[in-house]
Amino acid sequence: MLKIKRKSLLYKSGVEYADYCINHVEGCSHGCKFPCYAMMMKKRCGIIKDYQDWIKPKIVENALELLDKEIPKLKHKIEVVHLCFTTDPFMYGQKEVCDLTLKIIEKLNRNGIRCTVLTKGIYPKELINTKKYSPENEYAITLVSLNENFKRNFEPYTAPYEQRVKALKYLHDHDLKTWISMEPYPTPNLVKQNLKQILEKIKFVDKIIFGKLNYNVEVSKCWNNIKFYEECANTVIKFCNKNTTGYHIKYGTQKQDDKQTEKILIKPVLQTINIFDYQPMKLDKRNVVC
Ligand code: SF4
Repeated sequence: MLKIKRKSLLYKSGVEYADYCINHVEGCSHGCKFPCYAMMMKKRCGIIKDYQDWIKPKIVENALELLDKEIPKLKHKIEVVHLCFTTDPFMYGQKEVCDLTLKIIEKLNRNGIRCTVLTKGIYPKELINTKKYSPENEYAITLVSLNENFKRNFEPYTAPYEQRVKALKYLHDHDLKTWISMEPYPTPNLVKQNLKQILEKIKFVDKIIFGKLNYNVEVSKCWNNIKFYEECANTVIKFCNKNTTGYHIKYGTQKQDDKQTEKILIKPVLQTINIFDYQPMKLDKRNVVC
């Protein structure tokens, strides 16, 4: 795999539900065509030339050394570190990326820093080793469909949906916290599917983040897409309330944003349970996580 060196690694994220973030790879072999916002930005900044360039990932070879310097300086400010927003930490079939990700998570956890992780790949089973990796980490997959034809067209080199869910369920079955990023959720002119069926499939997770598809002209061609996303958001909220699952609807998905839920990943579940114990009459899980 190609290598690059960086001057810094940990940065404060601008994403509403995140705190600090790490992207230890440039590019992503998953090659999503939703489109991939990270690829668009890197192209605009002249960091990559085109799609072919993007899908040849370059690993940040000095990532662990950078962390050794940055962790002591930032440790007291960090609530949680998210991996990743502009690449994938468990890129499907990319062992070198997965191995480095595990080392990064271990290093952060040894320094008392919790991680939230998001992938369209397969989680390695060794994450259940809580002597090495903190049980306070929260692991997620992106899941916007169960239709493999849709996957072939829009996220061609990601892990198959079934395998992705199975690997996440394995972590859940070993008492680890799991969540789903259901974003960017496609409109019916891109794929005909039943949202409730997808929600049933991932019923076991602790939290769901749902968001609309942006930067795709097909969305505006979908008749009444605003109403469609409003209805989808209501379906997710109803499902989560029924199953006491935490949730956040990404800004811009509903007519009115709900800022109450945006800290869903920043407050650890442990804390929410304590609060719940003290105020059982007033709080549902949705309010507690905020
Ligand atoms: S997995 Fe994420 S970073 Fe990778 S190509 Fe897809 S959208 Fe882009």
